[in-house]
Amino acid sequence: MSRFRDKREAFKQRAEQGVKDRQKSAGKYSVVRLGKIDNINFFKPSPDKQKRNLIDIIPFFVTQNWAAKMRGFNGDALGVEVGDMLYKLEVPVHGQGCGALEFPQLCLKSAFGKPCSVCDDRESLKEDSNVDEDIIGTLYPRWKVYYNLRDKNEPDKTKRRKVWESPYHSFEKFFLDEADMGTEGYVIFADPEEGKTIKFKGRKKHFKSKGGQMVDYLEAESIEFIDRKRQYTEDDIKKSISFDKYLAIPTYEEVEKAYLGTEDDSEKGAGKKKKEK
Ligand SMILES: [Zn+2]
Repeated sequence: MSRFRDKREAFKQRAEQGVKDRQKSAGKYSVVRLGKIDNINFFKPSPDKQKRNLIDIIPFFVTQNWAAKMRGFNGDALGVEVGDMLYKLEVPVHGQGCGALEFPQLCLKSAFGKPCSVCDDRESLKEDSNVDEDIIGTLYPRWKVYYNLRDKNEPDKTKRRKVWESPYHSFEKFFLDEADMGTEGYVIFADPEEGKTIKFKGRKKHFKSKGGQMVDYLEAESIEFIDRKRQYTEDDIKKSISFDKYLAIPTYEEVEKAYLGTEDDSEKGAGKKKKEK
């Protein structure tokens, strides 16, 4: 009887571990490991020409000391302290398919001004005139922007709170352009108390990938800032996801291993690794 109970206990633990691992792998494809959080609804902008996207961007509270030194797309350090508000986390990413990368990796150079294995390799390849420029192009980081938002078009009210992982050059860049009113100042669209609802079209665009396939993506168009129906409180902000808390910051060596594809070997040879120990 007690052995059965032991087995049941072990079974339960394995089952729980399976659930935990599933969550881990769900977040593996992003450098912000949101797979650790339950019940996230992700926002996908609609390409529907008749119906514009309507979103309110809600700030989050900074939780990590290193956030002060992290750099945004413009290259400046964020200079924020724990407890400060940010409305987005801009993250430079070396994507899948760059070298042997199976999962995206944070670019330590663009994010923190530290050495980055992929960037180092890119710079040395540039010296070599035999290397295809297209290949060098894949070795630049791409910027992703993470937002907490309310999707005003979501019919299910309980699912309106969403997270958006968006490519910088398709959305944030256009939001900022539109927010700059020149001599009249800026629209602080993500301000919790004076912010605006962003209304925009998702325009379908595509580009030809290196392999010759057409890749579709969306880009913001016809952006308008309209008055919000309601503003947001500190409680709303507390419910936002602090993306800095989930950012996977690798070491130089970890990026290097993944980029060169030497990481896989050590995983496959787990038995061998044990023997060596
Ligand atoms: Zn890099």
